Amino acid sequence: MPDITLWKPEPDLILHQALGKLAEEIGELNTIVARILIQGADGRDPKTGKPNAEALQEEITDVLSAATWLQQLGHGAVLTDRANRKLQGYLEWQAMLEADRDGTAANEYGAPCDEAPLQEPAVHG
Ligand SMILES: [Mg+2]
Repeated sequence: MPDITLWKPEPDLILHQALGKLAEEIGELNTIVARILIQGADGRDPKTGKPNAEALQEEITDVLSAATWLQQLGHGAVLTDRANRKLQGYLEWQAMLEADRDGTAANEYGAPCDEAPLQEPAVHG
């Protein structure tokens, strides 16, 4: 078995470039998301002074624009049901994190997390 697969690039020039632009913009979005994780949403680019929140807004816009171009070429249409299920999951996740943060989450025994479990876990061995 060869060490590499002898692929060829996407032959449609326009589709090739739209995919390349989307990949580039996703990389830029990834960069600002990583910076916000390590520096904070209220931080600024250390070289340009641009606020991180403004850069995030720009890069999300750039990704959506590149994705829209790709969609206009007939690729990557949004699956509305999937998008809605994902968003519902994110909102449930957010509610769980907020409950944990606020100390209102129930533990696996149904008791608030700051209370002892209703029964001691079994000890084996
Ligand atoms: Mg960009």
